[in-house]
Amino acid sequence: MAPIQKECDFLVLGGGSGGLACARRASGMYGAKAIVVEVKRLGGTCVNVGCVPKKITWYAAAIQETLHEAKNYGFSVTQDKPFDWKYFSDKRAAYIKRLNGIYEKNLVNDKVEYLHGLAAFVDPHKVKVTLDDNTEVNITAKKILVAVGGYPVVPDVPGAEHGITSDGFFELPEQPKKVAVVGAGYIAVELAGMFNALGTETHLFIRHDKFLRTFDPMVQDKVVEEYERQGIHLHKKSTPKKVTDLGGGKKKVEYSDSNGEGSVDVDCLLWAVGRAPELEKLNLDVTGVKLNEKQHVITDEYQNTNVEHIYSLGDACDRGYELTPVAIAAGRRLADRLFGGIKDAKLVYDNIPSVVFSHPCVGSIGLTEPAAREKYGDENIKIYKSNFTAMYYSMFEQEDKGPTSFKLVCAGKEEKVVGLHILGIGSDEMLQGFGVAVKMGATKKDFDSCVAIHPTSAEELVTMK
Ligand SMILES: Cc1cc2nc3c(=O)[nH]c(=O)nc-3n(C[C@H](O)[C@H](O)[C@H](O)COP(=O)(O)OP(=O)(O)OC[C@H]3O[C@@H](n4cnc5c(N)ncnc54)[C@H](O)[C@@H]3O)c2cc1C
Repeated sequence: MAPIQKECDFLVLGGGSGGLACARRASGMYGAKAIVVEVKRLGGTCVNVGCVPKKITWYAAAIQETLHEAKNYGFSVTQDKPFDWKYFSDKRAAYIKRLNGIYEKNLVNDKVEYLHGLAAFVDPHKVKVTLDDNTEVNITAKKILVAVGGYPVVPDVPGAEHGITSDGFFELPEQPKKVAVVGAGYIAVELAGMFNALGTETHLFIRHDKFLRTFDPMVQDKVVEEYERQGIHLHKKSTPKKVTDLGGGKKKVEYSDSNGEGSVDVDCLLWAVGRAPELEKLNLDVTGVKLNEKQHVITDEYQNTNVEHIYSLGDACDRGYELTPVAIAAGRRLADRLFGGIKDAKLVYDNIPSVVFSHPCVGSIGLTEPAAREKYGDENIKIYKSNFTAMYYSMFEQEDKGPTSFKLVCAGKEEKVVGLHILGIGSDEMLQGFGVAVKMGATKKDFDSCVAIHPTSAEELVTMK
């Protein structure tokens, strides 16, 4: 059958966070004729194998922790069955399926045409889409957005194929009794924390002494300390050497770490060693779009590539923030600029708040203390710190109490808050409001002028000495 020919104003490659946000605004708000192409499931990484199923699992882990902790308040809770992983993961999958449907309806409402298939460039203005039934559609577009996101990388270790990645985590049919997680970024730390809280014996392999190494040193120190206190087996300065499939679902992971050579037999090995842009099948070469050394699409602050009518955003591009709200915000601003006549619309990539759903969770915005010292000079930096016990732990034995630590990094005579780092119960929800203050350029005095809410952990942030 001859390929179907189509034309449009705006072709969006990738139906994830950034692509959908951009296409819907371009069409729904500004009337552009937009087409979205998605090869897997609508919603992309965040909805299907990222933020959403991850956060639901984090809630499950938090419930398990609360059940353990309830005795401190006089409750007697006996679990007569282990956590029902299958019930939980089936229900989580059904919820996500509903979300996929809602995303499809949203495209209909905003009059965006949706094609399910694999996109590959034919020339700088033309893209071939191979639909599920192998029908080919050739689309000629005035403007094209590359929003293809990323995929989890598997390292070059003999036997690495016996491991899974974060994608596989969401497909595990049963809860592993013993797991090895390799990686030191937020995804590794989050998944290790959840496994451990749910009762899986968890080994976390990190290349250095600390994990979360892009976060403030306070966060690194406290979360490492807390993970060790919780009984996670942390293999520092470690390198996985070889993985062997032992049969019956078991794998042997051989490694070296700060204690020398060793091995561990696990039910599941999970690689969380980084992500790379999903460009392999896109045939981007024919467009002349330039990539950086890590294969991210090079963009300017307006999400322009070096090719005039091709744009990129989200995890595929080189802006350095692989977060859903960043991709969405960049997508909406791009649509405003390209189709809404707002000439200067762009996402300002600073003071972007982010949360790690570790145990306990972490919130962070602005500069770390070392980055602020480097930028402003030691003499212009004042640090306010607080380590305390959240009231929730007042009824706990000393050794069971979790940490709460806050830090404000202030710059200049006016003590502008240029960094805010918090960890402890509720930090995830606490950060958004303080993020607004930091984004507005609040000073320490502004923080202090806000009357505390008592009794909360957050009140410490407006009463620091
Ligand atoms: C385990 C995990 C947890 C995460 N947790 C959080 C979190 O808590 N908070 C947060 O903000 N972010 C989180 N993220 C990151 C977040 O999911 C991403 O930053 C976000 O999804 C990026 O959006 P995007 O639009 O750039 O790409 P994606 O959402 O990845 O969408 C890209 C889409 O393009 C499609 N595609 C690729 N190639 C082609 C092709 N050739 N043809 C057609 N379609 C194609 C893909 O199938 C995909 O659906 C998490 C990520 C992971 C992996």
